[in-house]
Amino acid sequence: MDLAFADTDEAFRLEVRAFFETRFPKDILDKIRRGQTLGKDDLVRAEKAYHAEGWSAANWPEEYGGTGWSVTQKYIFDEERERVGAPSVVPMGLLYVAPVIYTFGSPEQKQRFLPGILSSDVFWAQGYSEPGAGSDLASLQTRAVRDGDEYVVNGVKIWTSQAHYADWIFCLVRTSSAGKPQEGITFLCMDMKTPGITVRPIIGIDGSHYLNQVFFEDVRVPVGNRIGEENKGWDYAKYLLTHERTSYAHVARKKMDMARLKQLARTVTSDGRSLAEDPLFVQKMAEADVALASLEMTVLRAIASLSSGQAPGNESSILKIMATERAQEITELFVELGGLYSAHFITDRARPDWNSNSGIPDWASPSMASYLFTRAQTIYGGATEVQKNVIAKQVLRLP
Ligand SMILES: Cc1cc2nc3c(=O)[nH]c(=O)nc-3n(C[C@H](O)[C@H](O)[C@H](O)COP(=O)(O)OP(=O)(O)OC[C@H]3O[C@@H](n4cnc5c(N)ncnc54)[C@H](O)[C@@H]3O)c2cc1C
Repeated sequence: MDLAFADTDEAFRLEVRAFFETRFPKDILDKIRRGQTLGKDDLVRAEKAYHAEGWSAANWPEEYGGTGWSVTQKYIFDEERERVGAPSVVPMGLLYVAPVIYTFGSPEQKQRFLPGILSSDVFWAQGYSEPGAGSDLASLQTRAVRDGDEYVVNGVKIWTSQAHYADWIFCLVRTSSAGKPQEGITFLCMDMKTPGITVRPIIGIDGSHYLNQVFFEDVRVPVGNRIGEENKGWDYAKYLLTHERTSYAHVARKKMDMARLKQLARTVTSDGRSLAEDPLFVQKMAEADVALASLEMTVLRAIASLSSGQAPGNESSILKIMATERAQEITELFVELGGLYSAHFITDRARPDWNSNSGIPDWASPSMASYLFTRAQTIYGGATEVQKNVIAKQVLRLP
């Protein structure tokens, strides 16, 4: 296994670094450094900056506007992006629905939907989960009944990330109850402005409005918005999930966080000595460092095998669990470092002066919210228990 990057890859790294230093919107990076939260406008402007370089669709085939990057180049781009703290693309459009459309959509649908996704002019949400269908997604009940050239949709979706920003939503809906539950599911795209769609916020444990519940009441959707065949949506959904297995690793960001943590530990004192001299805290930081190094090696090993033509496949479940544990460990250390300051729970961090009168350092105020949001990583993208089942059955081949 050769983990060194080739000269051409290092040249690419310099090109990406120069982009973030000179052409990426500086005010967005400043907001992130100040601990401010990003709104829809910031997320869209970031994507448009990537698009201006031809870099927003790293995974798409080149014929539709993809970058043509190797797996290593994608890794380097993400590493440089995380090094400066810039946001990733919002996954629902560019990473999730687009591959379904360019793989299973009609030529008309490709022409209609892909340009708006590529240019980030159309914001998408993912309507899969329902109050009674999460890990067991195939039991979903949102129903679409055919009426001439339209479907009439009724039901509820839940945990819909950023649906309050979305112009369009792609949903799995039930079109038949015959046969196995997987066999009666259809993949439908809907304009969020269609009468009968209502979005209600769900405020997360971290105090943020990221999640939503979406209600569909007699929503009339043209049959032309269906991707692929009726009742074949499960196949497309499974295909999408392979694309949803994007890297949760975020190794570069975690390394930056660890470096910051160590530097801050020298400035925070307890019982007359800095936390950088507290044996217990030092041990916890060292353990987090070692575990992070092992995550990095696992990611690089996966990349090395991809370069030689193998897909990571079910092994990505290992990465998902490791990345979740590391993220939770690091946010926990920040809470511990902040001590009582971490109890300062600010939910509205959209304003530049969000923390100016608190007397509490900018790094400490959001630490509890980050810690709490990171708990959700155990659940989204496939819950940890479900990933463990995958590892047991598909990787270890246990009975
Ligand atoms: C921050 C966040 C963002 C999300 N964004 C979206 C989105 O944009 N669109 C969308 O459609 N959904 C979204 N989701 C929903 C997410 O996909 C579901 O929460 C997830 O699939 C789990 O489903 P559930 O919440 O119904 O929990 P359940 O499936 O009810 O699981 C409850 C518990 O039971 C365990 N469990 C379930 N099945 C098994 C099993 N077979 N073996 C062992 N243990 C099991 C789980 O691990 C979990 O601990 C989001 C969730 C979160 C937290």
